Amino acid sequence: MKKNSVTFSILRFKPGRIDPPRLQDFSLPAEENMTVLDALEQIRLTRDSTLMYRHCCHHASCGTCACTINGKPALACTTRVADIKSDTITLEPLAHLTCLGDLAVDMRDFFQGMDPEWANLRTCEKTAPERIPEGVGHPVRFENCIECGCCVAGCPVNDDDEGFLGPAVLAAVNNEIRNRPEKREDLLRSAAAPNGAGMCKRHLVCSRVCPSKVYPARHIADLRRAMDGDK
Ligand code: SF4
Repeated sequence: MKKNSVTFSILRFKPGRIDPPRLQDFSLPAEENMTVLDALEQIRLTRDSTLMYRHCCHHASCGTCACTINGKPALACTTRVADIKSDTITLEPLAHLTCLGDLAVDMRDFFQGMDPEWANLRTCEKTAPERIPEGVGHPVRFENCIECGCCVAGCPVNDDDEGFLGPAVLAAVNNEIRNRPEKREDLLRSAAAPNGAGMCKRHLVCSRVCPSKVYPARHIADLRRAMDGDK
């Protein structure tokens, strides 16, 4: 049935100002083809200009708008409001990453464990050098992974906060082994660290939530096989 309006129940949090976090409801007319990111933009432009969220490309290639939508990590830019069955849509920041404010998270933890020298990182050709602040290196990004953080947010192993390297890093390690077989032993050693592939409990959530078809769980399975000597 067509919805007339949708309520977005958004987790609001501003350290020291809106603290502790609380849900705030915003109702909008349900427009055909409206995405969750469209809704966030309408809310920020017409209801509350202090609403914080991350966004950039609006077509699932940058990964910045990922957030928790009705309990599941997903990209706001490709999630159509009409495809969500409930009339209330709860939006929260990605789990397992530090919230900077409202839906915006600090991605630095996501990149922990990634080596800037990895061959499957490439330079962002679209970032003009004059737009890069002094002292900051030229941005790099992965070929496939859009660095959205959905896999890290969805992975139940991270609920226990034991420093798991995480699905995105392990997928990148496996890609690196394919790209640089001469580094295989070193890379396998890092995958076999106490916080590496052995911590994966095969929940497979990472592969289910990944919007970029990276299938991190398959990479982790490859790593486990390689660590066992490809038996
Ligand atoms: Fe996002 Fe998939 Fe990369 Fe994880 S592996 S960060 S879910 S694109």
